[in-house]
Amino acid sequence: MTELELIKVGKGDPLHYGFEEKILKIRQAFEQRVQREWDIIDGLRGKLKFPEALGSLELEYVKCGKSACNRCRHAPTHGPYWYIYQKEGGHLQKTYIGKKVDPKLIEGIKNRKANRSRRKSIRLILEEITRLERETEKKIQTVRQMQREVEAKFELIS
Ligand SMILES: [Zn+2]
Repeated sequence: MTELELIKVGKGDPLHYGFEEKILKIRQAFEQRVQREWDIIDGLRGKLKFPEALGSLELEYVKCGKSACNRCRHAPTHGPYWYIYQKEGGHLQKTYIGKKVDPKLIEGIKNRKANRSRRKSIRLILEEITRLERETEKKIQTVRQMQREVEAKFELIS
C-alpha cells in the first residue's frame, strides 16, 4: 500500500501549496518598489495637463518670441528649460516644468516606462501560473480517480 500512499498528492502537499503565495509575495514587493517611483513622479502631477498620462521629459532651448531679440534671430537660445510631453486622445501636450528638475523625477519617468513592461511580464507569468495550477488540479483529480479505482480492486481481491 506504500505506492498508493505516494500518489496521495493534493492541496495539503507542500509541493503544490505555497507556490502561488510565493509568487504573490514577489509581486507585492515589486508593486511596492514601483509605487515608490510613482510617488516621486507625483511631485510633477500638479503641473501636468493630463496627470494620468505617461509623459517624456525633454530639455530644450526656446525662442522668446520678441522680434527685437538678437539671440533668437537664427535659433532658439533661451534656456535650456525642462518640458514634459504628454499624449492624450491623440493630442500632444507640452508643459513647461522649469529650468531645473529633480534628477529623481527624470529617473522616475524613465523607470515608469520600464515598469510598465515589467508589470506586463509579471501579469503574464501569473496567468501562466494560474493555468498550470488548474492543469495540476486536473491531474490530481485524475490520480485520485485512479487511486479510488485501484483501492476498489484491492477491496475486490481481499
Ligand atoms: Zn530671444
